[in-house]
Amino acid sequence: MDKNRMRALTKEFLEVIGEDPKREGLIDTPRRVADMYEELTEGYAMNPKEILAREWNEVTGMVIAKEIDFFSLCEHHLLPFYGKVHIGYIPSRAVVGISKLARLVDCFSQRLQLQERMTKQIADALNENLHPLGVAVVIQARHLCMQMRGVKSAADIVTSELRGQFEKSETRNEFFDMLRKPM
Ligand code: ZN
Repeated sequence: MDKNRMRALTKEFLEVIGEDPKREGLIDTPRRVADMYEELTEGYAMNPKEILAREWNEVTGMVIAKEIDFFSLCEHHLLPFYGKVHIGYIPSRAVVGISKLARLVDCFSQRLQLQERMTKQIADALNENLHPLGVAVVIQARHLCMQMRGVKSAADIVTSELRGQFEKSETRNEFFDMLRKPM
């Protein structure tokens, strides 16, 4: 990211909304904002293929990673949406550690996003790199653009992508039962 340009844009943004970028509280704000957006958009530089480099293992049955925290920015309003990602997959042979799944979530959340697309991208990345027998991704999120403005709805938005064996109701039910159980 061109941080000098981001600093200049932030200063201009402050002026446009009627603020004085030279007042004491705002003097360092353009620098902080540039640093922050660099961090919040780190996902663009991350590669799902590298994150999901395979680890061969004898695993049978469903692997579930529940409640992976994420924070993202809605591409329509540039406001945060945040919540939990739940991932389930049934390995053929390749498995990855839980920390890799968290990194995969960072890869797709730390950029401008739509919740539906992020759900699909996580499922696609798992499918393409691990070739599992099935993948399920559920995202539960709150969108500040819905909570702070407009109808001010605080509802959780839930999206899901179910592939392969998760299209069968038996497998799907097993997955959703596991999500409901306390950790
Ligand atoms: Zn939005």
